[in-house]
Amino acid sequence: MVAKIIDGRDLANSQKQQLAEKVTLFVKKYGIVPSLHVILAGDYPSSQIYVRNKQRACQVVGIESVLHQFPGSTTQSEIEQLIEKLNLDDSVNGILVQLPLPSQLNSQRILEKINPLKDVDGLHPYNLGRLLMNKPLLAPCTPQGCLQLIKTVYDTVESKNVVVVGRSILVGRSLAVLLTNENATVTLAHSKTKNLKDVCKTADILIAAIGSSEFLTSDYVKPGAVVIDVGINRIDVGGVHVLKGDVHQPSVEKVAGYLTPVPGGVGPMTISNLLLNTLKAVELQKF
Ligand code: NDP
Repeated sequence: MVAKIIDGRDLANSQKQQLAEKVTLFVKKYGIVPSLHVILAGDYPSSQIYVRNKQRACQVVGIESVLHQFPGSTTQSEIEQLIEKLNLDDSVNGILVQLPLPSQLNSQRILEKINPLKDVDGLHPYNLGRLLMNKPLLAPCTPQGCLQLIKTVYDTVESKNVVVVGRSILVGRSLAVLLTNENATVTLAHSKTKNLKDVCKTADILIAAIGSSEFLTSDYVKPGAVVIDVGINRIDVGGVHVLKGDVHQPSVEKVAGYLTPVPGGVGPMTISNLLLNTLKAVELQKF
């Protein structure tokens, strides 16, 4: 068996096309250009790449993006003061804090400062609580993207056995809630899970959000399973940086039914969902 590739770039591009049309109509009807403000602190090279990609994507669909850049030595109050200002500004629709923040900053407190209706990353406790109650307003972007990728294979995840490996709020834990809300039977695995291989092999849908390059080999995969690889690991191969997922693609593609590549799988979907959330945020604020 050779797994079919689920092309995240293609799906994200068609989402962006539809979104661009919606934004155009929105601007015509209400005279409002949706606006996303991104806060970037420090000089992590990958954060700078992510932010650049997000800003480019905004441009493609007609969303205004504004970057607020801080040095690595910035203080908690500088960031919090900016967020307070952006919260009060009606022309600002989305606020995104690029993570990770420099270590002297309290990320959780910063995320909690954001007005939940402008929280386009969906990481404010209010939005996470709404997700938990199955009444989501703005849900985290990567989990939404994973669900959309799965739905290119199955119309519904109802009654499917799903194993999510990794329990961060940003990805694994939120995704487990999202899938549970969609009536999947979800196992949330992590570093303390026993017999991880056996657990993973029960999955009709296996999701890797671990942060460990090529960790999940074919030994973890049930034949025919849908495998979603969230991982983005920058690996030095002979002085050149290459991106690897959490899934060992060469072996898994011989066993899985469907597989998302890295790059070109979940990554583009995270960005398109950020844009979708930004338009949703405008609607929540205005209507
Ligand atoms: P975290 O480091 O926050 O979480 C990693 C999770 O993996 C933890 O729950 C940890 O378990 C679990 N884990 C680590 N080692 C093992 C192991 N040996 N066996 C089982 N579980 C293990 O990472 P994130 O969730 O933020 O990110 C995960 C990956 O996804 C990263 O590669 C990241 O770059 C990528 N990512 C990709 C995005 C995209 O758009 N494609 C967006 C966000 C992240 P425990 O809790 O027990 O420590």
